[in-house]
Amino acid sequence: MLYKSTRGGDSRLPFKKTVLTGLARDGGLMLPESVPDFSGGLGRLAALRYQDLAVEMFRAFADDIPADSLRAIVEKSYSTFRAPEVTPLVGVGDIFVLELFHGPTFAFKDLALQFLGNLFEYVLRENGARLNVVAATSGDTGSAAIHGLRGRKGVSITVLHPDGRVSPVQALQMTSVLDANVHNIAIDGTFDDCQGIVKALFADLPFKDKYSLGAVNSINWARVMAQITYYFFAAFQAMARTGARQVDFTVPTGNFGDVFAGYMAARMGLPVRRLILATNENDILDRCFRTGVYSVGAVSATISPSMDIQVASNFERWLYYHFGEDPAKVSAAMTEFKATGSLRIADGAIGDRWLSSGRAGTEETLDTIRGAWRDSGYLLDPHTAVGVSVARKAGIGDVPMICLATAHPAKFPAAIERAVGEDIAHHPALDALNGAERRMTRLPADARAVADFVAANAL
Ligand SMILES: *Cc1c(COP(=O)(O)O)cnc(C)c1O
Repeated sequence: MLYKSTRGGDSRLPFKKTVLTGLARDGGLMLPESVPDFSGGLGRLAALRYQDLAVEMFRAFADDIPADSLRAIVEKSYSTFRAPEVTPLVGVGDIFVLELFHGPTFAFKDLALQFLGNLFEYVLRENGARLNVVAATSGDTGSAAIHGLRGRKGVSITVLHPDGRVSPVQALQMTSVLDANVHNIAIDGTFDDCQGIVKALFADLPFKDKYSLGAVNSINWARVMAQITYYFFAAFQAMARTGARQVDFTVPTGNFGDVFAGYMAARMGLPVRRLILATNENDILDRCFRTGVYSVGAVSATISPSMDIQVASNFERWLYYHFGEDPAKVSAAMTEFKATGSLRIADGAIGDRWLSSGRAGTEETLDTIRGAWRDSGYLLDPHTAVGVSVARKAGIGDVPMICLATAHPAKFPAAIERAVGEDIAHHPALDALNGAERRMTRLPADARAVADFVAANAL
């Protein structure tokens, strides 16, 4: 499989090169030249355990890595998960909850980043190279990336988070990792400031080349690829348990990476009926799907901070398909969006074969947490609860509704206490972080200052 940029610049890159590149040199995002079709072999895939299914999926995309090596990377990556089935599917009332939070940092990003850490180590060892990863985080990417890359040979990682705008648990998970190859920067600004700085460093091609910058944000194709597996895995289980021939998914959305993996799964032949993206008050994507206009608003801080995002970096990948795989249209659209902060995609609601959207505010989200706890004794984290709330509003139909549970509730204990009136969301591994030694650097929201820091700490 070869890869190309959504904007038409880079093309015919093999998988390993694509993974090390991150963002394309023309500013676009990398996509496979064609989408593999799995629709003919679903019965066989449905019988596989998670790891074996992942290997089957990855082989189609990463055909420049021998199958045995791929298998070893996958087994190692998911051996760190606390659940033997990796991503258990749990019935909660009239919905299914897909628990994606059994990895080391208790959020779904571990599914991709445990894999990416092992993949980087493998590829770098093979060609004797080094990589300095720079990433922006709204909380969960940073901790998952740090735990995926800590102590790895040939890689360093610098993570920018918005100072005071990630949860205390998220901040501790990042800054308590003291490995020499891990650097935390607390930026005086928002997540979009952090993401803007990282994009600026990657857009400075001489700098990117000199310091061999690598990306672990969901702009990295390997992350999207890794996430496709659980859509298949969950759909197979839900269909086996109910006899249904199709499924609905609801996906709590920020940067559009997770829901885009679901979109790829649908394009690959998984029988998805509806793919519903759910936003909190930061609803640029919901407004976009309802009105056809993608237009930036101000970021507001919510109880689901990992979704407090306005500019969704992976949206460009969906746009590429929406524009009939025409890179010139994507380039023109992104140039217009960059210049004006707004882009008209359609005159009215966007009609996508699979995707639709919804939004849940703070009170609805708290009510949803309270209701699931009262009725089913199940504790939803606030991100998951945004999804469940939107799923209910969209209507639970006659096919199984699978709601992605993107974080463990113990990552967001304050929101849980606000919803149910008691401080009940805890996990011993997270409680143990309190009082841990921490290391981080505070910097202004200024690309120059961050570039200097990266240069000084590069391998
Ligand atoms: C990152 C994250 C999201 C948003 O996922 P995207 O891929 O950015 O859309 C939702 N919930 C949690 C808990 C997250 O960490």
